[in-house]
Amino acid sequence: MVTVFGSCNMDLVAYVATPPRRGETVHGRAFSTVPGGKGANQAIAAARAAANTRFLGAVGDDGFGSRIRAELGDSGVDTAGLRTVEGHSGTAHIVVDDDGGNSIIVVGGANDTVDRLHDGDAEAIADSDCLLLQLETPLRGASEAAEVAARNGVRVILTPAPAEPVPESLLSNVDLLVPNEHEAAVLTGESDPERALPALLESVPEVVVTLGDQGVFYGNRAGERVRMPAFSVRAVDTTAAGDTFVGVLAAALARGTDITRALRRGSAAAALSIQRKGASGSMPVEDDIHEFLER
Ligand code: ADP
Repeated sequence: MVTVFGSCNMDLVAYVATPPRRGETVHGRAFSTVPGGKGANQAIAAARAAANTRFLGAVGDDGFGSRIRAELGDSGVDTAGLRTVEGHSGTAHIVVDDDGGNSIIVVGGANDTVDRLHDGDAEAIADSDCLLLQLETPLRGASEAAEVAARNGVRVILTPAPAEPVPESLLSNVDLLVPNEHEAAVLTGESDPERALPALLESVPEVVVTLGDQGVFYGNRAGERVRMPAFSVRAVDTTAAGDTFVGVLAAALARGTDITRALRRGSAAAALSIQRKGASGSMPVEDDIHEFLER
């Protein structure tokens, strides 16, 4: 069982040739609304990759909330631990440019109530193989979740995004840290991943730095290192590449797959997802991943 504790948003996505500068208005090419947020994305990626997956978090009592709940459910995610609270659901205002790059404004909304464990969360976490955490919800909630997981021998995987310093009290309960290059640099002050990795291993036993189209760099305290190039594909929209990677990585690890094969499955899923527009909507299912790797 993969349990994701964290954020869910409605992504409001505008596609433009070139994003506007301050004071400028530009015409977009297209618009879509898609459930997202790092937590929900990771849960959807894991569930589509055939892992038993549950999501613990909160939506608002608005139209976005019911749609987020329904789409998580449609992807096979157990939403019994998804609370509905008064007020707005989280939103993410995303601008995707013609090169497939993106910029994002996140407004927390209901996610701000995910600031502690609520009824049933501790039991759900204790009954898991992996716990996935991110930093889009208040740190205190994530820290409590990590503590319960650590006490119960559940593997804790943290995506330290958005990039910000992570307190030692949380890091000390993390088993596997998965920053992208930028997040690794913010955590260590080292822009070179080769140097950031050993610095991160002082705080956590295992690290995967994701390097965009350069692939991934894994290391652990036992001295093992794996450098895996990315699959060569044409990127249309890289939104949620990292969430797809980590959700599918966790799905594989939860069923006992070794780290090298799990990294390969995560990379394949991310490569598949970025070839189509959209975040959660473009994530592959188990058969797609299998077929891609068998080519
Ligand atoms: P994030 O989305 O968190 O910024 P990255 O950009 O590092 O994370 O992407 C996560 C993973 O997605 C990469 O490690 C890689 O496996 C895959 N990926 C991202 N961009 C590309 C690309 N252009 N081509 C192939 N794979 C990619």
